[in-house]
Amino acid sequence: MTPKALEWQKKIRQFVDVELIPWEVHAEMNNGNIPSEIEKKHQELAIKFGLPGMGISKNGGGLNLSMFDQMIIWEQLGRVTNALCWCFSEAQDWMEEVFSDYQKKEYLKPLMNGTKKECYAITEKGSGSDVNGSIQSTAELVGDQYIINGEKWYVTSANKADFFFLQAKIQNGNNDQNHALFIVDKENEGIELIDTPSFSHTFSHHHSIYRFNNVKIPIRNIIGKEEDGMSYTQAWFRHERLGIAARCCGAAERLISEATKFAKERESGGSKIKDYQLIQSMLADSVTELAATRLLLYEICKDHDNKQDVKILHAKCSMIKLYASEMANRVADRAVQIFGGRGYMRENVAERFFRELRADRIWEGTSEIQRIIIANSLYKRGLENLI
Ligand SMILES: Cc1cc2nc3c(=O)[nH]c(=O)nc-3n(C[C@H](O)[C@H](O)[C@H](O)COP(=O)(O)OP(=O)(O)OC[C@H]3O[C@@H](n4cnc5c(N)ncnc54)[C@H](O)[C@@H]3O)c2cc1C
Repeated sequence: MTPKALEWQKKIRQFVDVELIPWEVHAEMNNGNIPSEIEKKHQELAIKFGLPGMGISKNGGGLNLSMFDQMIIWEQLGRVTNALCWCFSEAQDWMEEVFSDYQKKEYLKPLMNGTKKECYAITEKGSGSDVNGSIQSTAELVGDQYIINGEKWYVTSANKADFFFLQAKIQNGNNDQNHALFIVDKENEGIELIDTPSFSHTFSHHHSIYRFNNVKIPIRNIIGKEEDGMSYTQAWFRHERLGIAARCCGAAERLISEATKFAKERESGGSKIKDYQLIQSMLADSVTELAATRLLLYEICKDHDNKQDVKILHAKCSMIKLYASEMANRVADRAVQIFGGRGYMRENVAERFFRELRADRIWEGTSEIQRIIIANSLYKRGLENLI
């Protein structure tokens, strides 16, 4: 911990405790929604802190925070349920590296000042875990426009977004399978909302299915080179996997502290339940697993800040995403158990986290896919590089 990180930790913890957490139950009971003036206030406060550009350079108008400091912030944001911490869009550092000047002006800056929101469309009906192999969406260059066709599943936050990051295979008539990443404005003609499925959690951010029918986008909306789409998506994955791990640590911390408080108050059989060793065992395991996870997270963030080889880093981001999401799910399960019947009520933080944290073992690559990445890296790069 550095004095700067501690300062961020304190500031964001207070933001979460004072501004976000008080709205959790309201959101839970209202399909994830809170009053629009409160939502606006949360966004304004996040922008005032500079959170949308926390990893962007000072020249680019951001805070230029290290990955370590960024994840200290995300850890605190993870303490709130119902995705209330998604009150701002995040411009990620890799975007600053690869966006053209036009894209920085029209998309990156607006993400940072809150005038535009983004969503990320990779998954398809037949392509989830196997992103590289089975994406069917196509992009064909005709004149000075790309024509996009395809269907994208589970596009998180698309209901609030102004544009999609969309991954498609370039169609050029000679079996070229290059994956490219595009910025697709939501107002473009040919974008059709197919379905908005319901999920276990109660978020105002939907995960809808969209069809892209001959959507024409200007050539200036391709990110970088045609063949680099997958590498940008991987940069996105690395960032998101660290973010998920940090939020899982924050969630576990909140769960342990709420369950401990309850255990100290609740009486059963003439004693406080905190005195029962079976309860102590659940709390002790949770604290120990959280402590180990945080250490690994912080170490991997420092590896990132020390510019470790990106392929090794990629596997380490999988390691921490896997470990933290599995840990937080175990902690949530124990917290529900400690709360007893109260832990099964939607107004209880443990019940909400129990449902919400489940997705962290699935999205941004399932736990199985993280294990495959880690094992492949072990074979290719050796144990000494992973630990
Ligand atoms: C709430 C939610 C929000 C999401 N948001 C987005 C989003 O914003 N943008 C986006 O693009 N996607 C999003 N996704 C999609 C998510 O990333 C995928 O669901 C996930 O990657 C798994 O893909 P799948 O659902 O097709 O499962 P599948 O790939 O069909 O996997 C099914 C099962 O098989 C296992 N499996 C698959 N391949 C292997 C293998 N080689 N070895 C061992 N086991 C394997 C998986 O681990 C899983 O257990 C979201 C998903 C959810 C649930």
